[in-house]
Amino acid sequence: MKIKLCLCTLAIISWASVAHAKVNIVASTPEIGALAQEIGKDKVEVLSIAKPTEDPHFVDAKPGFIVKLNKADMLIEAGMQLEIGWLPNLVLSARNPRILVGKAGYLLASNAISPLEIPDPSMDRSMGDVHPMGNPHYMLDPLNGKIVATRICEQLCQIDAANGNYYKENLVDFTKRLETKLSEWQKMLEPFRGLKVVSYHKTFSYFAKRFNLNVVGTLEPKPGIPPSPTHINNLIPMMNNEGVKLVIIEPFRERKTPEFVASHTGAKLVILPIMVWGIKGVDDYIALFDYNIHQIVSALRG
Ligand SMILES: [Zn+2]
Repeated sequence: MKIKLCLCTLAIISWASVAHAKVNIVASTPEIGALAQEIGKDKVEVLSIAKPTEDPHFVDAKPGFIVKLNKADMLIEAGMQLEIGWLPNLVLSARNPRILVGKAGYLLASNAISPLEIPDPSMDRSMGDVHPMGNPHYMLDPLNGKIVATRICEQLCQIDAANGNYYKENLVDFTKRLETKLSEWQKMLEPFRGLKVVSYHKTFSYFAKRFNLNVVGTLEPKPGIPPSPTHINNLIPMMNNEGVKLVIIEPFRERKTPEFVASHTGAKLVILPIMVWGIKGVDDYIALFDYNIHQIVSALRG
């Protein structure tokens, strides 16, 4: 009888710990992880694989992530081949049926996004363009962030239905804050409507479209191909003719080429993080835009 009671007690303790366990989420990149945290708050444990200080196309994905993926209840992938060089092997090795394509524990965030810059299939891609499915940097449009947050909420509600209302309330709260901020950001950038800028990589296309900036060129001749002297020699006169005011780069880029280009065109060089925690003080998705928009405005006014 004693043994039976003990087993019964153990069973209750075990059930209780499962019932109150947090949902384990692995996100491929930190800005997607930050959205999962906004929706799940204290009911989720979020881990992002890419470091906010590295190029999301070329992530040093340590084997330690295999164990994390094995225990994950949910995997969120940006998609459009952003992670093609580093995520598929980790997922394969993790052998976790809960996070496979088609399961409630798998979310391809790009599924709900309207992609920009889908390449013409007749174009030669032998040069190694890293955007073969279109531009994967869609999280830099806050309205795409809203779409992804909604999808995360829907999927979390399936995995953890008991807390569904909690996730939905968090989504409403996040969306309200984001929309209020969006109109503030649009007002701040309105005086610079149509401003011509050059970026290092095609990272800021969605951002520029949302905020009416005009990306007229990139330091890379093609996404993922390093700047060449020939390309830079053609880019500088074009920028001078077009009156380009800003060169925008991410924190993980080399500085020599952008500094050279800026000094030969009179454009200001601005360094903008593209992921949450990419720079000190940028601790959530809204703070990422707050920081970047203030940087642009102060560079242009300074
Ligand atoms: Zn890219």
